[in-house]
Order: sequence, then C-alpha cells, then structure tokens
Amino acid sequence: MDTDEYIRNMSQQVLRTDASGMPLEWIDYRDAARLYYTGQVAYACGQPLYEIHGGVNARSGHRSVIEVNSIIATIGRSASHADRRNNYVPPVNNKTLFRRDANLCMYCATRFSERDLTRDHITPVSKGGLDIWSNVVAACRRCNNHKGGRTPEEARMELVAVPFIPTYAEYIYLKGRRVLADQMKFLLAHFPRSSPLHKRLSGHLTAPHSDQSV
Ligand SMILES: [Zn+2]
Repeated sequence: MDTDEYIRNMSQQVLRTDASGMPLEWIDYRDAARLYYTGQVAYACGQPLYEIHGGVNARSGHRSVIEVNSIIATIGRSASHADRRNNYVPPVNNKTLFRRDANLCMYCATRFSERDLTRDHITPVSKGGLDIWSNVVAACRRCNNHKGGRTPEEARMELVAVPFIPTYAEYIYLKGRRVLADQMKFLLAHFPRSSPLHKRLSGHLTAPHSDQSV
C-alpha cells in the first residue's frame, strides 16, 4: 500500500450502526478506535479498511492491533433512538440537497457540479415559501435566474421530480463524504421501498468503478 492509498484509507469514514444494524452515523478512525478499545463493538461488516496500532499490553507485552471495517455495529439499542429516527427531519443544507437531487437541476434535468447548482425555493421565500425539504430543489443558475421570484406555474416551468424529505438512513447517505459500495448497499437496504434514491443511485452502482466509491 503506498502512502497515498494509506492516507485515503485512513480518511475513509466508517458507518456505525446499532446492534440491530440500524445505521447511526459516520465516524472517523479515532472514533472507531475508541469504540473498539472500550468494548462497544458488537460485530463488524463490510470490508477491512485499515489497521490501528495501539499500546503495548503490560502483562503480555503484545502490541494491540485493531482491524477496522467499513461498517461496525455497536452494542445497545434504545427505543428512544428508534423513535427519534422515525420522526427525524434532517436540516436542509446545499450539499445534502444537491445530493438528494443527484446533482440534477430539477427544472432542465441537466447534471451539474456542486458549485454550479443553487438552492431554489419552489414557492419563493418572498411569497411565504419555507426553507424546508419539500419546498427546495437543486437548480442550475440559468433556471433559477429565469424563474426569479415566481412559482413554477407562474414561470411556466415544470419540476422533473417531486422533492422529498429524506429519512434518517437516507440522510446518512446524503451526508457521506465518500460512500463505499458496501456501505451504499447496506444503507440502500434501509431506505423506504418508495425512495427515489433507489433509482437515482442504481446508475452509480452499476457504473464501472462502483466498487471504489459512489
Ligand atoms: Zn436548469
């Protein structure tokens, strides 16, 4: 493994789940090490990412080595957590919004890079529209300028997809920095059957480099 590869691996986020396999959050290698050392890891899934070398055991003289996988399940499962997840409405930000919309302008259906997209309020803020998931979409600058302070009807523009509020598991995916294929498959299994992300991501999963990251 060359240095670049090693750094890439160490910066790879680990998906943490509860003991029942419900996705909880992304953690870095420090958090992962802490969970292992404090005995909170119930089991690991996914691929091995890297090894962490710990201190030397005073009694045995052995140096501890922890192999960290891409998905780790931690002990404990509280009902309040599950409850919170079910009613969870994630905060809106551009990064996760653009990802929800697969980097497509929701008016002209063209794919753009993150920096060329804007947050469009379907019902403009000036007309009482709220900054909530169901009222915001990714839009290219051209479409957003053209729409101006009008509703889509007034501007005679049509949305190519209905905006949706991400579930907890969907939001974890949207927040992921570089989601590995095995983490992706794991998260997909927790998306609602009706999630538009299934279709939006299926292209990525069958892409030639899908085993690297999506
Ligand atoms: Zn557009």
